[in-house]
Order: sequence, then C-alpha cells, then structure tokens
Amino acid sequence: MKTNKQWRLAARPVGLFKDSDFKWQEEPIGDLGDGAVLVRVIYLSLDPTNKVWATTDSYLPAVPLGDVMRGGGIGVVEESRNASFAAGDIVQGMFGWQLYASVPGAGLTKLPKGAPLKAFMGVLGHIGLTAYFGLMDVGKPKEGETLVVSAAAGAVGSLVGQIGKIKGCRVVGLAGSDDKCLWIREELGFDAAINYHNENVSAALKRECPKGIDIYFDNVGGEILNTALALINLRARIPLCGMISQYTATGPVSGPANLSNLISRRAKIEGFLVSDYLPRAGEAIPHLLEWMQSGRLKFRLDVAEGLEQAPRAISRLFEGKNTGKLVVKVSEEPA
Ligand code: NDP
Repeated sequence: MKTNKQWRLAARPVGLFKDSDFKWQEEPIGDLGDGAVLVRVIYLSLDPTNKVWATTDSYLPAVPLGDVMRGGGIGVVEESRNASFAAGDIVQGMFGWQLYASVPGAGLTKLPKGAPLKAFMGVLGHIGLTAYFGLMDVGKPKEGETLVVSAAAGAVGSLVGQIGKIKGCRVVGLAGSDDKCLWIREELGFDAAINYHNENVSAALKRECPKGIDIYFDNVGGEILNTALALINLRARIPLCGMISQYTATGPVSGPANLSNLISRRAKIEGFLVSDYLPRAGEAIPHLLEWMQSGRLKFRLDVAEGLEQAPRAISRLFEGKNTGKLVVKVSEEPA
C-alpha cells in the first residue's frame, strides 16, 4: 500500500507564512472511487494567491483548516478508474500540497505525450495565459506605446514584458534587486529596469517613460500603483493582475490617492482573473508556443526540491527571493 505525504493547513496565516501554519501528515492511500484517478504529483505550483486561499474567502472559498493545502500542478496517473485516463498519462489539475492525489477525472487536463512539463508550469500554463490575456485583452498594447510592469522578474511579469516587446512597446520593468534588473534588461530584452528598493520610483519612471505610461500592468498594488497612476497618459489602460504588496497586510490597506487621474486622463483600470480565460486558452497557446520555440519568449523556473520544502519555499514570493516561476519538484518526471 502506498503512503501519502501531505501538508495540511493548520492555522490561518497572519502576515507572512510561518512553519506552524502547516502540518506534515503521512497516511495510507485509500481505495479509488468510481471515476477517480490516482495521480503522483511531479510539480506543484506555488503562487502568491496561495496566501489569499489560506487566509480568507475570495474568488474561491478559503481552504478549511485541517484540509490539504490547495495547489495546482502536473502529475502522472498511477491508477485509474476512469475510462478517459490510463496509467502513465500526464495530467494537469488541482492536486494540493501532497505526493498523491485521488481526484475525479472531470477536473483534469491531459497533456500531450512528451510535453515539456517545465514549460507547462510556466509559459504554456496558467502563468502564460495570465500574461497573455491580461496584456492583450485588458492592456490592449499598440506599437510605440510605453508599457510598465511591476514584479517584472517574477513569473507573470517577466512574460508580460517580453510579450510587450513582441508587440512593439517600449517596456520598463520594476523589480526588487539589481540581479533581477540585469536579467530582465540583458536577457529578456526590456528597454529599462528600475530597482524599486534603490531608486525613487517616481523619478525613475519619469526618466524611463519620457512619453508617459500607456499601460501599467500591475502585479503589486500599493505605493507603486499610486506612483504609476500619477504618470498615465490619455486613455491609458491598467490591467490589475495582483496586489502582492497587500497579501501580507495585517490591517486595513489604503487605496491609491491618485485614482482621480483616471478621470482627467479618461483611463481605464480593470481587474481580471485567468480562470475566466481558460476556455480561450486555444487562442493564446499557439502564439506562446511559437514565441517560446523561436526564442523570443524566455522563461525561468525557480525550483524548490522536495514537498517538504513547500512551506519555506512559498515565503520566497513575499520576500522577493524568487526569479521566474516558483515551483516545488515533488517527484521525478517519468523517463
Ligand atoms: P511572482 O513570481 O511575480 O512573485 C512575486 C514577486 O512579487 C516577488 O518575487 C517580488 O519581486 C514581488 N513582491 C513581493 N512582495 C512585494 C511588495 N511588497 N511590493 C512589490 N513587489 C513585491 O508571482 P506571480 O508572477 O505568480 O504573480 C504576480 C502577481 O500576479 C501576484 O500579485 C499574483 O497574485 C497575480 N496573479 C494574478 C492572476 C490573475 O488571474 N489575476 C494569476 C496569477 C498571478 P521583487 O523582488 O521584484 O519585489
């Protein structure tokens, strides 16, 4: 009989995650129900929104205390009682922070044989779709426009900036270290990178965006959003992707003081969720694949080795320690 290994949510996190917010559990795997599939998890995605899921009801209900922590990933089918899946199939789904997941086949997406799994955790997965639709559908870039992106060396931000370049924009990234700035400028081709910890962001944005900001792709909210709002052009677009600066707040957060600029500049700010775009994934994937294969869209996985590392690794997102997409390698890819 196989033994499962799991991280269960033990407490509602306050501020940053603590080790004591999670409890390690090992238990035998029960019998598979009709229609269910047993998946061995290979890669687990760690996302800023995991903090929201662990804390409060939002676009999904909060993870109940005592349950396996929610998380998406890729795994291999080891047993199946569902006619649509066979042992050896590679599948994507919500497996949770555990080694084995017994899940209904309905929630699974089968990946093609030989698919590059690392790419499906990043540029060809929910991260790539977030960047693509957030920029193309909400940001609507036009050649010659200026695009500013925050958390620009992160999973979503690094792709948004590169897609902006492909679409002919001047792209300026904000990131939290000189190494990250070097990476997005020298390897990813951003026109400029600003280390927001070292520089006055307002002065640096004025320097790097001499024609103002047409699109501000916001991953962080807070003071950076407020500063960008001060510099937006007529008919600017602001896709609100995330607000990571507020996910660890322990009290009420204040709204941006420069919101009134939306009126004078006739600009648009719009939140979006990648889950709404999943039915349209087929529109984005051929472009993302072509750009990836031609070397115009690069991505980096930041890999923590072993499920045991998940609670420590997730804090890297909130401490700015990840570059590219943060994942946990839970078990080996099939040969
Ligand atoms: P990232 O890989 O970008 O990791 C998070 C990064 O955010 C860190 O590396 C850090 O980079 C930066 N950061 C952390 N704390 C702060 C802070 N206080 N102020 C400014 N920057 C901070 O994560 P993702 O790419 O997965 O997610 C980026 C954003 O997109 C998140 O807000 C997330 O919730 C959102 N998102 C939204 C989706 C949607 O459907 N709307 C889907 C997926 C993600 P640095 O060193 O530069 O500070």
